[in-house]
Amino acid sequence: MEKISIPEIYGMNVFNDAVMRERLPKKIYKEFKDTIQNGDELKPEVAEVIANAMKDWAIERGATHYTHWFQPMTGITAEKHDAFISPTKDGKAIMEFSGKELIKGEPDASSFPSGGLRGTFEARGYSVWDCTSPAFLKEDASGVTLCIPTAFCSYTGEALDKKTPLLRSMQAINTQALRILRLFGDTETKKVTTSVGPEQEYFLIDKDLYDQRKDLIFTGRTLFGAVPPKGQQLDDHYFGTIKEKIACFMHDLDIECWKLGISAKTEHNEVAPSQHELAPIYDDTNVATDHNQLIMEYMKKLAPRHGLVCLLHEKPFAGVNGSGKHNNWSIATDGGQNLLDPGKEPHKNKLFLTFLLAVIKAVDEYAPLLRLSASNPGNEHRLGAQEAPPAIVSVFLGEQLEDILKQIEAGNLTNSKKGENMSIGVNTLPRIKKDATDRNRTSPFAFTGNKFEFRMVPSSASIAGPNFVLNTIVADALKDFADELEGADDFDSALAALMQKTVKEHKKVIFNGNGYSDEWIAEAEKRGLPNLKSMVDAIPYYTMPKTVKMFSEHGVLTKAEVESRAEIKYEDYINKLTIEAKTMLDMIAKQIKPAVIAYAKSLADAIASLNAVGADASVETELLNSITKENNALNDGFKEIKSSLDNAETIDDLKDKANAFKNNVFVAMNKARKAADDLEMLVDEEYWPFPTYGDILFNV
Ligand code: ADP
Ligand code: MG
Repeated sequence: MEKISIPEIYGMNVFNDAVMRERLPKKIYKEFKDTIQNGDELKPEVAEVIANAMKDWAIERGATHYTHWFQPMTGITAEKHDAFISPTKDGKAIMEFSGKELIKGEPDASSFPSGGLRGTFEARGYSVWDCTSPAFLKEDASGVTLCIPTAFCSYTGEALDKKTPLLRSMQAINTQALRILRLFGDTETKKVTTSVGPEQEYFLIDKDLYDQRKDLIFTGRTLFGAVPPKGQQLDDHYFGTIKEKIACFMHDLDIECWKLGISAKTEHNEVAPSQHELAPIYDDTNVATDHNQLIMEYMKKLAPRHGLVCLLHEKPFAGVNGSGKHNNWSIATDGGQNLLDPGKEPHKNKLFLTFLLAVIKAVDEYAPLLRLSASNPGNEHRLGAQEAPPAIVSVFLGEQLEDILKQIEAGNLTNSKKGENMSIGVNTLPRIKKDATDRNRTSPFAFTGNKFEFRMVPSSASIAGPNFVLNTIVADALKDFADELEGADDFDSALAALMQKTVKEHKKVIFNGNGYSDEWIAEAEKRGLPNLKSMVDAIPYYTMPKTVKMFSEHGVLTKAEVESRAEIKYEDYINKLTIEAKTMLDMIAKQIKPAVIAYAKSLADAIASLNAVGADASVETELLNSITKENNALNDGFKEIKSSLDNAETIDDLKDKANAFKNNVFVAMNKARKAADDLEMLVDEEYWPFPTYGDILFNV
């Protein structure tokens, strides 16, 4: 393997701070930095100079095109490439890129989902430069393109993307967090930012096998497949030695990430066979979101170079773990103070406790919204299935903080439990200090030392959704706190009372036990915590007056924008299930049934031959009878999918339609699948029309 120097390649394809400092006139550089720091509007003359420097830099590195890179509601990224060229009168061309082109683009994008926000007659959409996320170069066999991260909105200024509400939510939490800091006497901090480190899970499978499965090609997951004799029972894949082929892929991915200034750091095998994880070091939420989109894009793009395909679907295979994304979230000042860092003696750290309680209040009050923010059709198979957190949102705090909350509730906050020394029982091993709290892998929202880990997030989704919701609901709780405290005569006693009240009202959301257990489901019900099993049940919470008011008060989403997003959620669910149902019908009709019939015929022939010579044909007959029985069940399932699908498609109201898909189409799909999987266990493998789980999961 060729030797590389990470410091040399790191960030080489990014128009980052170092490049700007080197290439921009001092005055322009300073103005630009001030603009970002203060959140002011960018002056046209500054944009002009930056555009020119950006263009020169990109062209020196081989770029011919630029694109406004944006994140429409599809959850993936979009780009429309424009060449830098500008023709001259003498029939030649010069390379040009203006400040205007940098700041604003106009992709005619009437085909992106808008949830009714714009008719096709209002085709105009604008992409607007997000100067807080650096521009970068994408290189591949087709050439080099300068990508400019942008927000995407309609002609009337409504957000048509995932990024705009995310940026707005960062503004909202900044505003409210600053109010709290001022109350605590902090006059220095100018800006508060949320940071995210998303851990990305994914599968890698053999491309030749992938190509033989229509379900993987059309839907990203297997719609059929009996569970193989060996799955993940032995836990021998988790953190196991990484196979060379996979390691080569990871190495390639690391290099591409590093060139893009993405700090890919931790890589390991995950629980399921063929499953892996990549975690970069955390960054500002909008940058982390851009980077996560790029990571997913490069995973997909690089895998085929190694004869592999990357599956980002939440549940590519039934019976083994699916993939999620752990969204590690924290909030820090521009001075570098992590407001979720408890310090050595959390009971004395009132600022930390205020922020902690704001998060707890936010999660409790908006649990359904948070659950919805982590929903997509793929995640329906994971949440509550003993491999990912349940659909019930709760907060894990650990022993030490739970104890502190008890003290707050009792009105007597005096001490913090300490981590103890620990001995492993081998004299030569060093003594280590235990953390004050253990971890909890079953909690959907766990405090992990100095950050919260939101563990429900789906692997294939943009993290913009969960994070704009998280930022806004916490901003809302901070606002309530600030409103109350700003009017208080005596800050200390008002704060103590507020903390006590908050613990009393919201402690029901705190749970430190096993989130996968049945007891918790019963207990959560007793506590009155919502258990929204399907995203279809959660979508109505989006448009409830309380939610709409909260989003509009913080300037994150207007009523129309909220409603459009609810519509898009329904449409996404309906569309994905329609494709899955149709793919199933196709595979049953064209692949499974013909294979079963051919095998049944060979059995019938064998029975006839055996009978003709007077031999015993009882085994063959028994097998044929079993196959006929399952084939009938498959046929029933097939017909049920068809009729329920036809029925659902006639429904106009989106909510009713989505429910028809959930209650009828999806149920029929599971019936057909069960019959097909049983058949797979009966039919000669020579006849089976596509690779099985055993082939796919253990063949990389
Ligand atoms: P785990 O043991 O769950 O893998 P790690 O400590 O390795 O946890 O971190 C996982 C992710 O959390 C990484 O992306 C890391 O950069 C990120 N992370 C660490 N500290 C913070 C923080 N203060 N805010 C946000 N993310 C963080
Ligand atoms: Mg983790």
